[in-house]
Amino acid sequence: NRIPLVAGNWKMNFDHREATYFVQKLAWLLRDAKFDHKRCEVALFPSFTSIRSVQVLVEADHLRIRYGAQSVSVTSQGAFTGDVSADMLAHLGCSYVIVGHSERRKYHPEDDANIVDQVRAVLAAGMQPILCVGESFEERRQGIELDFAVGQVNDVTRDLSDEEASKLIVAYEPVWAIGTGMVATPQSAQDAARAIRDHMQAQFGAATAQSVRILYGGSVTSHNAVQLITQPDVDGFLIGGASLDPEELALIARLT
Ligand code: 13P
Repeated sequence: NRIPLVAGNWKMNFDHREATYFVQKLAWLLRDAKFDHKRCEVALFPSFTSIRSVQVLVEADHLRIRYGAQSVSVTSQGAFTGDVSADMLAHLGCSYVIVGHSERRKYHPEDDANIVDQVRAVLAAGMQPILCVGESFEERRQGIELDFAVGQVNDVTRDLSDEEASKLIVAYEPVWAIGTGMVATPQSAQDAARAIRDHMQAQFGAATAQSVRILYGGSVTSHNAVQLITQPDVDGFLIGGASLDPEELALIARLT
């Protein structure tokens, strides 16, 4: 009963003209393939500067493509130069916001407290957070990858109510798999997704655990998507590099 989600994280790629061209092409490819949007959701995560262009196109052409932002401010308004609030994103029609991506954790001061506050801000504005977790190579080498990823989930979920948790989406993205071409094996993606779902069940009960979507991210392509999505606890993908090619993204969506 969980509808799979194929999410394209464009990271810092595409200006608003390139984004417009991409959305037109993707929409055409999906229409041409008679893609069933009720069976699988497709969402794009452009830079802030392109979100309005994507919104205009989606609304004008009544597209079923969803979209969101790659990060958000924890505060609602005021003297925070350079920040963008959750309400601003919600008013642009965003459905989702990526929170705690490993690149944000690395290049920006996003610690657990900040990530919890981002999740709260996203939920309060009526959108769904996609919380990114995942171990680095070092934790995997030590064999503590599941504890690490579940620990990152728990750092956020321990502060959430049942109602808040039910709207969470989790993306398991092992850092060593991001942009490296080294995709996790289907079994290790499943093991992590399962461990995260078990954690949700222990904290919030079976109904929430069964409804929360858990995505896999890290070197996903049309060549490995099928083996990953057939795992029982993997509910879709967060895709970087392969999401920059509309043909490839449309193909992954059709395979999911
Ligand atoms: P790649 O698909 O390029 O490995 O990136 C994954 C990612 O970080 C998506 O958020």
